Amino acid sequence: MGDSSSESKSNFIQQIIEQDLRAGNTEGKVYTRFPPEPNGHLHIGHAKSIFLNFGLAKKFNGCCNLRFDDTNPEKENIEYIEAIKEYVQWLGFEWDRLCYASDYFEQFYGYAVELIKKEHAYICSLNAEDIRRYRGTLTEAGQNSPYRNRSVEENLDLFARMRAGEFENGSHVLRAKIDMGAANLNMRDPTIYRIRHTEHHRTGSQWCIYPTYDFSHCLSDAIEGISHSLCTLEFEDHRPLYDWFLEMLETHHPQQIEFARLQLNYSITSKRKLKSLIDEGIVADWDDPRLMTLAGMKRRGIPPLAIEDFCNRIGLTKKDSWIDMALFENCVRDTLNQTAQRAMAVIEPLKVVIENYPQDQEEQLAAANNPNDPQAGVRKIGFSRDIYIEREDFMEVPPKKFFRLAPGREVRLKYAYYITCEKVVKDNDGNIIELRCRYDPHSRGGGTADKRKVKGTIHWLSAKHSEPAEMRLYDRLFNVENPLANEDITAAVNPTSLQIKHHCLVEPSATQIPLGVCLQFERLGYFCLDSRDHSSKRTVFNRTITLRDSWAKIVGTKKEQSQ
Ligand code: ATP
Ligand code: MG
Repeated sequence: MGDSSSESKSNFIQQIIEQDLRAGNTEGKVYTRFPPEPNGHLHIGHAKSIFLNFGLAKKFNGCCNLRFDDTNPEKENIEYIEAIKEYVQWLGFEWDRLCYASDYFEQFYGYAVELIKKEHAYICSLNAEDIRRYRGTLTEAGQNSPYRNRSVEENLDLFARMRAGEFENGSHVLRAKIDMGAANLNMRDPTIYRIRHTEHHRTGSQWCIYPTYDFSHCLSDAIEGISHSLCTLEFEDHRPLYDWFLEMLETHHPQQIEFARLQLNYSITSKRKLKSLIDEGIVADWDDPRLMTLAGMKRRGIPPLAIEDFCNRIGLTKKDSWIDMALFENCVRDTLNQTAQRAMAVIEPLKVVIENYPQDQEEQLAAANNPNDPQAGVRKIGFSRDIYIEREDFMEVPPKKFFRLAPGREVRLKYAYYITCEKVVKDNDGNIIELRCRYDPHSRGGGTADKRKVKGTIHWLSAKHSEPAEMRLYDRLFNVENPLANEDITAAVNPTSLQIKHHCLVEPSATQIPLGVCLQFERLGYFCLDSRDHSSKRTVFNRTITLRDSWAKIVGTKKEQSQ
């Protein structure tokens, strides 16, 4: 991870800011904002924007506001607002000011009146269909609206009556008067205000006209004294309009700078599409640990540091591109490998009786809590005659490269002894239910005086010294790189993205880790307690991530096949 985790690399936006500061362009101040629309929960794409905006403010000793862009009352609600605040803090940031675009409704209205007075805006009474028709196309100029030359007085009167609620939805809009022949379609007399007889979650029924994004966004930036307004590339074509409004209104004029959206393969980063996954029952909720939402990632055990490391590693560009999920997963592994305490667990237990180990004997064996961190200390693991190993670690007829336990073969029990399998016990249906083994009392701690070699080391737990647990093994939600390319998104869902194992065993101390902290179950992966379903009566672990990337092989094979 190195230095990249704590400090972001220099990027092109940082360079612009440095130039501005050197030239004295922004009165020596850096003021940014993170402006989510509260119509869903935050996802990994938003994290990129959060680290960028809050990160730059921090770096240059500036300020960053959290601003809710809440001008679309139909799709927004308070629940999302609270969740967004929580997850910005979870990533480690505090806003300088908490702002709501809806707090500026009166100011926006005033600015709109000013545009009308300056003959830069008019009330258009075409219906939506005609407005679209008059706009023209990329190859064809638009046509002026027949209402374009209404007098200032008439416009002011109609606008006041729109506000007063005299008209139906859709009967009139306020439009900027720019140029219906402009090459940029956004400049062809864009709509500034529309009538919506809808309650707003903050302003109630105070307003029945609402400003459009293009109008409210630049003005919110201006009102808050933002210096650098960072947004994603799809707003590049809107920048002339951003600048036009601020010039016409002669206000403070922030600089809009665009950067590429984060697109992560095998996942979805769009609030709207995420919501449809929930509505269709593909996942249970916004915090499903398979979603790349901040809520899902937190519940899955992904540390904010790993997300920060990821955002730093992908950097900033001016060009859209896909980022590979494997990069994200490796950031998670790298972060957790540094910090996670080790423990043992068995997901599918197979009983082993060590026949030459005295029936009533037990002992405590030492194990390092974290081999990467000597300061993490050592813990004791109980050992006795009846133990459990992973069912997968035994094969009655082992293939060539299988080095774990098999009839007549000796393996090392990690931190404990060498054991040799003597007998396989089966039930009436031929299922293996138990192994009988012998242990070498001189191999305590995992080695012998004769330095005899064993090829396999496996994990285990003593029956007496373990507790039952449920484990939820999570994997990528989709098994295709671009799930949205599928017409039917359910066909892109990875059928093994969640496997629930009910009869697992864990070291007793593992059940005591704090919520939100991961540990590494040796040889199995990183796990955390589930924040929703874990309780003192029921131990539930989520697998955050496996120890190795099992997808590289799958994807590699697929690529080979398609060549
Ligand atoms: P969605 O499509 O998920 O609704 P959005 O862009 O409409 O995304 P907003 O709530 O408007 O979501 O976004 C708040 C901020 O986060 C914006 O500045 C936006 O540019 C940024 N953002 C959103 N998605 C991404 C992404 N994938 N990569 C980088 N920044 C993003
Ligand atoms: Mg949006």
